[in-house]
Amino acid sequence: MGLSDRQPAESESIALDSQRGQPGAGAGRAIWNVSVTIVLMGLLFAAILLHLAPSRQTIGLAISYTLLSIGPPLTLSLIEHLTRPAGPRKSRKKWFLHFQIMLANYASGIPFGILAAYLASQLVTFLGLKLGLIDLRLDSGKGVAAIVGAFLVSTLIGDFFFYWYHRSLHKSTILWQHHKMHHLDPEFDAMTGPRQNWLENFFSVFFISVPMAVLFKFNTLDPLHAGLLNGAIIGFLQSVVFINHSNLRLQFGKASPCFISSQTHRIHHSYLPQHRDKNFVAFFPIWDILFGTYYHPAPDEFPLTGVEDERDIQSVWEVQIFALREWWKMFRARHGNKSNLVRPN
Ligand SMILES: [Zn+2]
Ligand SMILES: [Zn+2]
Repeated sequence: MGLSDRQPAESESIALDSQRGQPGAGAGRAIWNVSVTIVLMGLLFAAILLHLAPSRQTIGLAISYTLLSIGPPLTLSLIEHLTRPAGPRKSRKKWFLHFQIMLANYASGIPFGILAAYLASQLVTFLGLKLGLIDLRLDSGKGVAAIVGAFLVSTLIGDFFFYWYHRSLHKSTILWQHHKMHHLDPEFDAMTGPRQNWLENFFSVFFISVPMAVLFKFNTLDPLHAGLLNGAIIGFLQSVVFINHSNLRLQFGKASPCFISSQTHRIHHSYLPQHRDKNFVAFFPIWDILFGTYYHPAPDEFPLTGVEDERDIQSVWEVQIFALREWWKMFRARHGNKSNLVRPN
């Protein structure tokens, strides 16, 4: 299916909206959306505050963390708005929906992240694994080169695990039902980065955090307590996820194999067959090169993004149940009658 076939999905949803629409329904929906956003923002702040409470931290610090988590995507959204885009832009309505998805993702990420970490520690104990074979903790006495080196090594190795995790998300039919929600976005931009749900915490902890904890001893990656240099490096690494999804004409040309850019990650999100299952890494394309999945972009190659024959998500609630619904569809298609094999959209 090409772009021309995908557009009716958008207009379909608009038509659906107008069918539902009664006089005043638009204003009602706007009030509902703003209310949901305020509630989600409150939940994010409350989750951060509760998370900090055991270490007797203040409301001020919780506000700082909240701003630190939403600051980079908001800044990038502004830059995207002011500069020439690499692909289609989100409508205001779609951008707002993605802002809600990001808040829900971050707010749910705290309790579910804690639960996932607890389950992972139980698994490690059960398997009798020894943790922290290599010490990469950053003492204040270490020089700048040692600190940067430790970050480089840990990020490179972390990216190795991320590569295989991400590749599994694409290659396993079951895991793809979860990950494809991140890929359905036809307007690839900074807000596509945090387009994940609570389930991601469980998968990433078991696929990435557990093997990393077995290999390395780390300091907690906390930018507000890590000092200026460490905080700056951590802040940059955390911002890369937004930068590499940005709708900017960022391209590194011949240097593309050295570090991820929004162009190489856009290729990963492309719906064109020649780009499928390429460029999996989060930071260093060396792993894609070594394992045969690197696609070197041509100058000004900024493809359209999305997934064929799939309707994009319509609400923040749909995001939360997305994988469960897709697994249920899979189960019914395999065990139900033939008509269940036809996609409902
Ligand atoms: Zn992917
Ligand atoms: Zn992505």
